[in-house]
Amino acid sequence: MSSASSGTGASTVIDNIATLVTNDPSLGDGSRLGLVRDAAVVIEGDRVVWTGDSRKAPATDNRVDAGGRAVIPGFVDSHSHLVFAGDRTEEFNARMSGRAYSAGGIRTTVAATRAADDAELEANLTRHLAEALRQGTTTFETKSGYGLTVADESRALRIAARHTDEVTYLGAHIVSPDYAGDPAAYVELVTGEMLDACAPHARWIDVFCEKGAFDGDQARAILTAGKARGLHPRIHANQLSHGPGVQLAVELDAASADHCTHLTDADVDALANGATVATLLPGAEFSTRAQWPDARRLLDAGVTVALSTDCNPGSSYTSSVPFCIALAVRDMGMTPDEAVWSATAGGAAALRRTDVGRLAPGARADLAVLDAPSHVHLAYRPGVPLVTQVWRRGVREV
Ligand SMILES: [Zn+2]
Repeated sequence: MSSASSGTGASTVIDNIATLVTNDPSLGDGSRLGLVRDAAVVIEGDRVVWTGDSRKAPATDNRVDAGGRAVIPGFVDSHSHLVFAGDRTEEFNARMSGRAYSAGGIRTTVAATRAADDAELEANLTRHLAEALRQGTTTFETKSGYGLTVADESRALRIAARHTDEVTYLGAHIVSPDYAGDPAAYVELVTGEMLDACAPHARWIDVFCEKGAFDGDQARAILTAGKARGLHPRIHANQLSHGPGVQLAVELDAASADHCTHLTDADVDALANGATVATLLPGAEFSTRAQWPDARRLLDAGVTVALSTDCNPGSSYTSSVPFCIALAVRDMGMTPDEAVWSATAGGAAALRRTDVGRLAPGARADLAVLDAPSHVHLAYRPGVPLVTQVWRRGVREV
């Protein structure tokens, strides 16, 4: 396979694609994935300008032969926690030896993150981003939440904002250990001085709505304060137990309710009738030996489902979207087509983006070439590094 990078204005065709996932139902077989067989993609600058039958591709400056492989949109990982220091190997090891997961382990990472300097935090972030890119992730969201002071939260967001537009203020990850006896005062900080310092660096505001973290009233106060400052809400909801998070997400028009493991029928109905995406994070259930979210139930109800890694050092230390796809198919009732859609177009929906997660004219030229003839192999061949090329904004990066 030849390697080519498109310069500004130059056009490149990637052809001889056995299966192309466009996520545009108006293309190819008319399915939700918009599958085109024997396909080509034409890239100009940072955009896709043409997709279709290889034999009909327009003339271009450069040509890349995909060699009968599959091409999919780059993964849109809409939920990660990558501004942190240290790791939690011992906690994982203990948990796999029988101890239960609770929200409290976050404090370990808070201590390590506060102790790290900016360069160390940024180096750790870029190392994980490179790791994710090699596995096909071209868009990612990431959060603060391991600083829990005004200075530490705002610096986490400043560092994240150098690497992505999808930055989320999560001062309300847990009640800061400094406020252990006075959670109301911590909520006041999160919705006051900390919000003032963080809002300029973030697009989103998030809260961990869970027993041991923040209850429904606190979560509502935090997200409402964020909305008033121009941040858009997303929520860690219904992960470890039933709770008010999902209903609150729909009520506040959150872009996404994340986790959604413990749902009532009313929660599922609310998601089906609202504009909030349900983001499922199977790496967390895998890494904590917890109950799987029921993706089939959500999909059958008509809920829009995203799949994401939740990459973080405590409860889901994987940056691999293909791994999450395999888990979702094996253990959560998703078909391979649904899982691939959820990890690409679904992630884009969870970030309210239309320029990524699809490969149609006008979309960003973010794509992955798989060393396999079909996207189904992502689930069929779990744990195998199938991503062999990654293009981002029209440039081959892997
Ligand atoms: Zn999370």
